[in-house]
Amino acid sequence: MKKREEKLVAPGGVEKVLLHTCCAPCSGAIIEAMLNSGIEPVIYYCNPNIYPLEEYEIRKNECSRYARKLGLKIVDADNDHSAWLECVKGLEAEPERGARCLKCFKLRLTACAKYAAENGFTVITSTLDSSRWKSHEQIVEAGNYAASLYENITYWDYNWRKGGLTARRAEIIKENDFYNQRYCGCEFSIGHLKDSKPLIRKAVKERVAAMSETDKQTEADVLFSYLENSELVRNSKKILLYHPMADEIDVMKAVRKWAETKEIYLPAIEGDDIVIRQYKSEQDLKIGKYGILEPVGAVLDNPEEIDLVIVPGRAFDIRGYRLGRGKGYYDRLLPKMRAIKIGVCFDCQYIFRVPAEEHDIPMDYVVCRKLIEK
Ligand code: SF4
Repeated sequence: MKKREEKLVAPGGVEKVLLHTCCAPCSGAIIEAMLNSGIEPVIYYCNPNIYPLEEYEIRKNECSRYARKLGLKIVDADNDHSAWLECVKGLEAEPERGARCLKCFKLRLTACAKYAAENGFTVITSTLDSSRWKSHEQIVEAGNYAASLYENITYWDYNWRKGGLTARRAEIIKENDFYNQRYCGCEFSIGHLKDSKPLIRKAVKERVAAMSETDKQTEADVLFSYLENSELVRNSKKILLYHPMADEIDVMKAVRKWAETKEIYLPAIEGDDIVIRQYKSEQDLKIGKYGILEPVGAVLDNPEEIDLVIVPGRAFDIRGYRLGRGKGYYDRLLPKMRAIKIGVCFDCQYIFRVPAEEHDIPMDYVVCRKLIEK
């Protein structure tokens, strides 16, 4: 352990602090500085934001390893990721340092303040503030908010990036060979990682599966009314929709109604590709690959004839990029089309980032309930 010149003094001069800890790399230098100043931190591990569970366990185990090494107490708080998701609902498309992060900090630091109040601590602080990727102002706001909810609790607002702590942080990571995570924590903070597609698919799939049929129908109805009244639909003669799978927005109301006045087409799978066939009626559909109903009529030879295409996806991001199911059918079809592309999804499928490469074609529009009602 290195001796640091600056001596820390906690609010009220207390010698015991409840330290909300996000991970071992962020906590190393702070813990060392506290110990060098005669302050005993009790580690409070409360990070239900971390996804998936395997990642949560790895980060927690690293904190436990470090606590054991230093002989410090670690409190293992609840890990209720569903409650965390509920707390940040509607903010999936926020960037890091945005409104979702403030809520995330408040949830974690409120749990910390509650534990402090119930267990005789008067001062709390957090290792979150050692990361240059996070907003110091947001963390302080969340800490003060959490402390204000309980009597006699103070949030120790200290800039843990100063006084050589950032350099020492890097040294301690090396010395202890800490697992160094590649993303902040939640499933909405992994879109910048090229290899995160399977994890995003899994996370979004779980969220859609947790939706009630009523909620799915409500979101589909809002979407239908919006599209029905849009100029894009009104001005299009030939529209490609899709026959929905159970976890996709149900657009069959549009298929049936618009077919009365427009040429409506649906995809059919042939080999490795989508072909486009005209929809005539429900009786004209047969079960195709993956159990999806497909029209039996003639194939539209030239996909460029389609004016508008409504595209399902696993997830869409704020730039319009789409994450499919991983088979690449639409990735091969869309470059052959000149149509206006509208991605449709449930609210929980609209997120900040999905991994995108140069050849990926973004949607012209993405539509979901929260965007319509904004
Ligand atoms: S990006 Fe990080 S701080 Fe923001 S909500 Fe996700 S886990 Fe929380």
